[in-house]
Amino acid sequence: MKVLSFAGYDEIYLKYILPALLNKTKTQTIRPAWNDAVKHKWSLTRDNCAYEKIKYVSGKPPRFQVGETFILEWKSRSSPRGSWFCSNCGMLEKIRNPSGKCDHLYFPENTNPTAFKFPKILGMATITEVLKMEMRKTPHGKFFGLWLRDGDIYLTTEEYEELAKKDGFPDAETMFKWFDNKYDLSVPRMFWVYRWKGAGDESPSHGNFTTIIPKSMTETFI
Ligand SMILES: [Zn+2]
Repeated sequence: MKVLSFAGYDEIYLKYILPALLNKTKTQTIRPAWNDAVKHKWSLTRDNCAYEKIKYVSGKPPRFQVGETFILEWKSRSSPRGSWFCSNCGMLEKIRNPSGKCDHLYFPENTNPTAFKFPKILGMATITEVLKMEMRKTPHGKFFGLWLRDGDIYLTTEEYEELAKKDGFPDAETMFKWFDNKYDLSVPRMFWVYRWKGAGDESPSHGNFTTIIPKSMTETFI
């Protein structure tokens, strides 16, 4: 089964996205629709006198199809199987402290009394929608989003807010700024939008995911 991995350590991610993942209100993720590797190819110049090396970034097909069931994991590739993490900082619990816990878990009363530990495997869900969109920022700093279907369609204000909320952001402005910081939207960028519901849940309006209890688990997950 495919795995969808999540990770983020910036303020916005830890304040909004990680909590939304853990309380299962996050029902969507927005991922680049281009490959990171920049390819080079040789092309004739306009006057056909010489070749020049041009850079292009190739498009990426969607990783998931509607109806596909997948596993949600925190830091899928960069942490060992069976890892546990801190809900406050998203880091492996076994850091810094000789107790084997991060300070938020070891000294919650001094740091964050609501911090708890969570397992690498967050749950299982089924894809309900796969959409393609473009995000961009004008030179004046205004953000735009377009649905890329048969023709380009600008998102309505309601769709911006819906998109942000499903992703775990408090509002569209925060979402756009976060993506701009990460991907630089002054260049128009294309993304795949994946939406899901809990695997095995028949109700399409109930958009969470199903918890998998790890075999080695001795403590209850939230
Ligand atoms: Zn921590």
